[in-house]
Amino acid sequence: MRKDFLPFSRPTVDEDAIADVTACLRSGWLTTGPKTIEFEKMFQEYTGSKYAVAVNSATAGLHLALLAFGIGKGDEVITSPMTFVATVNTIIFAGATPVLADIDQKTLNILPQNIEKKITPKTKAIIPVHFAGRPCDMSAIETIAKKHNLLIIEDAAHAIGAKWQGKKIGLAGAKKATVFSFHPTKNITTGEGGMICLDDEEAAEKLYILRQHGMSKGAWNRYAAKGKAHYDVIMPGLKYNMMDIQAVIGISQLKRLDKFNARRAQIAARYNEAFKNTAGIMIPAPVTQGDTHCWHIYSPLLDTDKLTITRDEFMKLMGAQNIGTALHYLAVHEFSYYQKTYGWKEGDFPAAEYVAKRIVSLPLFTAMTDEDVEEVILTVKEILAKHKK
Ligand SMILES: *Cc1c(COP(=O)(O)O)cnc(C)c1O
Repeated sequence: MRKDFLPFSRPTVDEDAIADVTACLRSGWLTTGPKTIEFEKMFQEYTGSKYAVAVNSATAGLHLALLAFGIGKGDEVITSPMTFVATVNTIIFAGATPVLADIDQKTLNILPQNIEKKITPKTKAIIPVHFAGRPCDMSAIETIAKKHNLLIIEDAAHAIGAKWQGKKIGLAGAKKATVFSFHPTKNITTGEGGMICLDDEEAAEKLYILRQHGMSKGAWNRYAAKGKAHYDVIMPGLKYNMMDIQAVIGISQLKRLDKFNARRAQIAARYNEAFKNTAGIMIPAPVTQGDTHCWHIYSPLLDTDKLTITRDEFMKLMGAQNIGTALHYLAVHEFSYYQKTYGWKEGDFPAAEYVAKRIVSLPLFTAMTDEDVEEVILTVKEILAKHKK
């Protein structure tokens, strides 16, 4: 057994980021300012979108994107049951009604045919989630959106650096926004943070205003020498701006993103190779030709029909060997609030339920050593062999 605990995820923060945070703290300017603007510009160049708006979380980003495009009361927004609850909560806080469309059991992404079945005259937007960093079938989703004049907001919390058919996730387009997360488990971090990428100028202008109290643009620097003391409030806004303290970490991280993702891909490939013929575990489906998976998480399914233990028991046994695992996710419709409020129930989304019972995230982060990876493989194989039916 390992002496030290191997977590399922751990951020890699380099010394230069630590020095930059210190410098930012000493500079006297801690909140939204020049560093946030620099990070936005870098992100915009990285994704190829016209605008990048930094916020204090992806949750804030999803909420604001819905508001900026005028989604609200009486509107329906379709998303995946296999996501973090933030996706659904932001739809609710925008005032709209969440509608779920079941996933593809292989890719774990929302199935375009299922989206189409859920469209009503009230449907205004689709939020596809690029699960684990695997791009959704965007051509099918875009075709549906065009046909029904729907907005697309991509939940790209898992997908920083992923590519759909050679195009970076975040590269925008009309009636579209993409939201990224910089939570410490994500492919790059700012502690907490998020980014909204889009091409729509009008919506972008609204986002800058909405993220900071609804104050007219530029009011962020009202305390600086050249700042304006006066500002107007154009609409009621929120307090969702990113701090410069966060942005300097992001700048350092974004420079390393491609290197980070290459290491993640290497680890995922090793896991796939090791588990492809192992009884009791089903490795992630192959990636669609032309797409780039960015391996935010490595989440195989346990073939529990062939095991004497449940997924939860498996996670406990891994923990007993000092190896961390995580659960992404229980299906959204299995939580009590949504069941009470929207009448969702067990059986409504069979593919998501099948996955939610079997999925487990194994350790995957850039600083993992090859020895760490081999230890995980060995431990998984031992546990599965010991509990074969
Ligand atoms: C992490 C995550 C979010 C929320 O991101 P925050 O930055 O923590 O708000 C939203 N959706 C998905 C799919 C996520 O994994």
